[in-house]
Amino acid sequence: PRINPHRPIRALPPQLVNQIAAGEVVERPASVAKELLENSLDAGARRITIEVEQGGVKLLRVRDDGRGIPASDLPLAVSSHATSKLQDQADLERVATLGFRGEALASIASVARVKIRSLAEGAEQAHELAGDGQGGWEGPLPTAHPQGTTVEVRELFFNTPGRRKFLRTERTEFGHLETVVRRIGLSRNDVELRLIHNGKPVFTLPAGEDQGVRERRVGALCGQPFLEDSLYIEHSGAGLSLHGWVARPSFSRSQPDLQHFFVNGRMVRDRLVAHAIRQAYRDVLFGQRHPAYVLHLSLDPALVDVNAHPQKHEVRFREQRLVHDFLFRTLHEALAQTRAGADPAVSG
Ligand code: ADP
Ligand code: MG
Repeated sequence: PRINPHRPIRALPPQLVNQIAAGEVVERPASVAKELLENSLDAGARRITIEVEQGGVKLLRVRDDGRGIPASDLPLAVSSHATSKLQDQADLERVATLGFRGEALASIASVARVKIRSLAEGAEQAHELAGDGQGGWEGPLPTAHPQGTTVEVRELFFNTPGRRKFLRTERTEFGHLETVVRRIGLSRNDVELRLIHNGKPVFTLPAGEDQGVRERRVGALCGQPFLEDSLYIEHSGAGLSLHGWVARPSFSRSQPDLQHFFVNGRMVRDRLVAHAIRQAYRDVLFGQRHPAYVLHLSLDPALVDVNAHPQKHEVRFREQRLVHDFLFRTLHEALAQTRAGADPAVSG
């Protein structure tokens, strides 16, 4: 094919820019759910309800009781590169919220019909803003809504057939979405999460900080056998703190499908982390078996760069050696005790 040498360079229209960004962030209903739930958590919500129809493709609605969005901010909330979570570069060096890129709502609204209703803390009147998915917006108009925010996403990919084609069956999409909700449920025991599919309640994860609530959430996501065949670990040192469950070697998997790792409440998939854990299991796990775990690592946000991946699944630790050694040592010690046949509980 002949390349036209005179094709001019053009700045892309905003709708197209947002759709390109959506290509990275919005893969399926589950990714929309993740972004909306993270926004609710960042807004300080204590109760969140997720209602979906047809696996989340037809409708995905997240309602929270968080701080809400002032009417004057609603148009900015759906603009790309607009966020309330960062102000300057120093903030970017120590992100303490789940979101910070200011792109999720703008991206989602470029590939679906989005309606936001919100009553901000201290405001008298709730407002709504509705997008047609083609760059057109209506509002903010007065509406009724209790304090908090409801974001409604309808007909995902209705205007991007190429993307729609990659959606699977309702069941598969719902399965992905449910996993995301449960995983997020593991990160915040103090927040109640309710999931409704096609008008039927699927589950409610009640809020609470006691061990019973934690275990019920872990059991619901990973299954009771995992819970019964794992060690609970709590350990801190050198500014790092780790807690969670690691499977005993007797509960290994043929797939790496039961590995949940959170860094400051954010679910991540990290090579360094995976490597440290694998090393810790090296003496007790053989062949092609994979360890199973639900682990939470906390550290100073300044020591971890979360701006490494569009979906924020990956992070970069500034002190890689330190983190690796800490994970390895903590788990290695815990697992060594299972071999010795001693009581495996580790704490301190
Ligand atoms: P980011 O989360 O990276 O800031 P988003 O596009 O997800 O970007 O959201 C843009 C802004 O809209 C947020 O910074 C926040 O101020 C506001 N916002 C979005 N969802 C909510 C919500 N559920 N409650 C309160 N504010 C919200
Ligand atoms: Mg966000």
